Amino acid sequence: MRSVVDMPSSGTILADVRGLVVRYGGIAAVQGVDISIRAGEAVAIVGPNGAGKTSLLSAIAGIVRPSAGSIHIGGKPLAGFALSDVVRQGVALVPEGRNIFGSLTVLENLRLGATPRLDASVAADIDRVLSDFPILGERRDQPAGQLSGGEQQMLAIARAMLSRPRLLMLDEPSLGLAPAIVDRVYDLLRGIRSQGVSVLVVEQNAARAFAFADRACVMSHGVFTLTGTPGEIGSDAAFDSAYFGVAMAENGGPV
Ligand code: ATP
Repeated sequence: MRSVVDMPSSGTILADVRGLVVRYGGIAAVQGVDISIRAGEAVAIVGPNGAGKTSLLSAIAGIVRPSAGSIHIGGKPLAGFALSDVVRQGVALVPEGRNIFGSLTVLENLRLGATPRLDASVAADIDRVLSDFPILGERRDQPAGQLSGGEQQMLAIARAMLSRPRLLMLDEPSLGLAPAIVDRVYDLLRGIRSQGVSVLVVEQNAARAFAFADRACVMSHGVFTLTGTPGEIGSDAAFDSAYFGVAMAENGGPV
């Protein structure tokens, strides 16, 4: 297994993560990850259950405090920042399970996404999001709990976009959705990327993620075990063992 430092080939670095470690008591969920994402780039992280993917996103989003390492967004360190400061730095997370408030309307859920901003342009942004996501516009006054799974995923993405992120992170956006709906979700993400937003997506659905991303990382046991373009990783003989996980020795190397 290779030791990997994940670096984009060129372009302005938006997010720079070095030596990141996330621990929960005695469990080291992320064990020293380096990843850089450039402006407008789409990066996918794939890997099996328990690989540490959610923990990595949670640390970048300021939800979990890393025990070691650094995170810079646009050259500024995120260390010690409150969650709202991380959002102001341009980082937004669409969590696994979406975290939609089912008893609130679509519009109320969207307003919550704009909470970190106090400027007068919020109403115009909500109007724009509702026209970018027509199904949400049609259902703006319905309780979000009445939306289908795919519509809720779109609402979660639309809500995240209201903080005007430079880096949009999504945790398992295709989970539980029919293939045709997953197509629509990824079409939306392509549209978001075309606006210059960087996208970091965590997926167990490697084929979907690879079809979308410029670069990909396979994560297993808290570390990146392969990185490269999706084409390079998909054709790497080590992909299956890296993706499905291999037994690790106590020193962190493969058995
Ligand atoms: P999944 O796809 O199943 O969510 P993942 O790759 O996202 O997997 P994480 O959710 O980051 O992986 O979990 C990595 C490890 O950390 C696992 O062993 C998990 O049990 C553990 N873990 C995650 N969150 C916590 C927590 N809040 N407290 C204790 N252990 C945790």
